[in-house]
Amino acid sequence: MTAKMLRFVTVGRAMPEKRKPEQRRQDFDEIYAEFTPERAAEQASRCSQCGVPFCQVHCPVQNNIPDWLKLAAEGRLEEAYETSAATNNFPEICGRICPQDRLCEGNCVIEQAGHGTVTIGAIEKFITDTAWEKGWVKPVKARAQRHQSIGIVGAGPAGLAAAEELRRQGYQVTVYDRYDRVGGLLIYGIPNFKLEKDVVQRRAGLLVEAGVSFRLNFEVGRDASLEELRERHDAVLIACGVYKARDIQAPGIGLGNIVPALDYLTASNRSALGDSVPAFASGALDARGKNVVVIGGGDTAMDCVRTAVRQGALSVKCLYRRDRANMPGSQREVAHAEEEGVEFVWLAQPEAFMGDDRNQVSGLRAQRIHLGIADATGRQQPRPIEGAHFNLPADLAIKALGFDPENLHQAMGAPDLELTRWGSIKLDWKRMATNLEGVFAAGDIVRGASLVVWAIRDGRDAAAAIHRYLIAKETGRSAAAAE
Ligand SMILES: Cc1cc2nc3c(=O)[nH]c(=O)nc-3n(C[C@H](O)[C@H](O)[C@H](O)COP(=O)(O)OP(=O)(O)OC[C@H]3O[C@@H](n4cnc5c(N)ncnc54)[C@H](O)[C@@H]3O)c2cc1C
Ligand code: SF4
Repeated sequence: MTAKMLRFVTVGRAMPEKRKPEQRRQDFDEIYAEFTPERAAEQASRCSQCGVPFCQVHCPVQNNIPDWLKLAAEGRLEEAYETSAATNNFPEICGRICPQDRLCEGNCVIEQAGHGTVTIGAIEKFITDTAWEKGWVKPVKARAQRHQSIGIVGAGPAGLAAAEELRRQGYQVTVYDRYDRVGGLLIYGIPNFKLEKDVVQRRAGLLVEAGVSFRLNFEVGRDASLEELRERHDAVLIACGVYKARDIQAPGIGLGNIVPALDYLTASNRSALGDSVPAFASGALDARGKNVVVIGGGDTAMDCVRTAVRQGALSVKCLYRRDRANMPGSQREVAHAEEEGVEFVWLAQPEAFMGDDRNQVSGLRAQRIHLGIADATGRQQPRPIEGAHFNLPADLAIKALGFDPENLHQAMGAPDLELTRWGSIKLDWKRMATNLEGVFAAGDIVRGASLVVWAIRDGRDAAAAIHRYLIAKETGRSAAAAE
């Protein structure tokens, strides 16, 4: 790679701010703007077909972006859809919610040259939404009917992508989920204003049409152990995500109206889906008329602040212990949140929560922070500034500090499943296999909290690995020879 090419490789680093924020904002807005075929063609034709597709390299599913942009530019939308769907099970979902500024668009050569990225996500969404409208999106057809069955634990993007790929190969697929709806965090985590729920539900319907069976309200560990699933199926895929919310240790943390982010977001999503949610109806998980403080700086925190704005909060603040440049959340989300009136309080963390006479939170005392020297990971460590405190009013405090895996040995009744020191599943990545014979894993439960597009990638890889494993088992050949 030449020095000039290296200049373009910026994965994992903040992008240089070459254009004004309002210009960048226009790119972001395109995802939700009404696209016409002409507008899509005009935008797609901005791709220089540069021959060094860093966009594709930095897309986790390695979408063949230059090819489908060229087809879209020529108005050949059905072919564009087929090209895009060949590498991604849910392109319209990724088009809506991938942090493109950190992935494909952030590495677009035109963006690097300072002319504004080709809005890849918006075009991907447009192509696939058009495909749905025109009836080009069809349930997968099995290449052959195979008698072996596969049990998948988790109907999130990893489990669903694997289910579709395994049906394509003709296997009998059953997906188990403890929720009452299909989609995992796509349905109950990510807010409706970023990902409309009917977009997720039509995908679930397509999988049913393709012959995938769903057993909802079925919790592995309660309704069956992992061992029982292994007896029932020829292979099992664990794609159960990570759900143990990280907590804060501080005086007053037990007061009312200090809630975990996922409880808050799930209540909002469920009520938008028409469910009766007593904690939302009572106002406990509704931000309307409240001073809201969200603690954390990741994408979940951004979803909480933006949901609170939409619910009609009196004020919304985001308290984060690092600064803007060091926050894990997408810069696009921060830009949106700021425009919507969210106030970011950087370099501060809660020290104590104050309550009223009903034991409900009424405010918090925050400690000012400075960033110290970098640790082994290269990240500057937050250090409290002695004596620097301030108070914030809060009628609702939302804890959005990230997620860890649940204790899988207990939760799934699987004491022999090998885990990493972080509690995620230890995986042989080449085979997507756990230490248990015939048990595979994919998505957040192996990566830690990550992204939808990585879950899709893992689900596809796991499906391919399961296919190799079952062919090898049937024919007595090695899995490598079965490829
Ligand atoms: C609030 C929020 C916002 C996010 N926003 C974005 C975003 O904008 N863009 C993005 O790319 N990523 C986003 N993410 C991350 C993304 O949602 C996850 O990386 C992705 O959903 C992981 O997919 P998964 O299939 O591994 O797990 P999940 O989507 O978590 O699905 C796991 C499923 O397994 C089920 N399950 C768990 N245990 C059991 C059991 N014992 N028995 C049966 N079923 C079980 C769960 O009910 C769930 O349905 C966000 C995450 C959160 C929390
Ligand atoms: S899947 Fe995500 S990263 Fe890949 S092209 Fe689409 S929006 Fe970009």
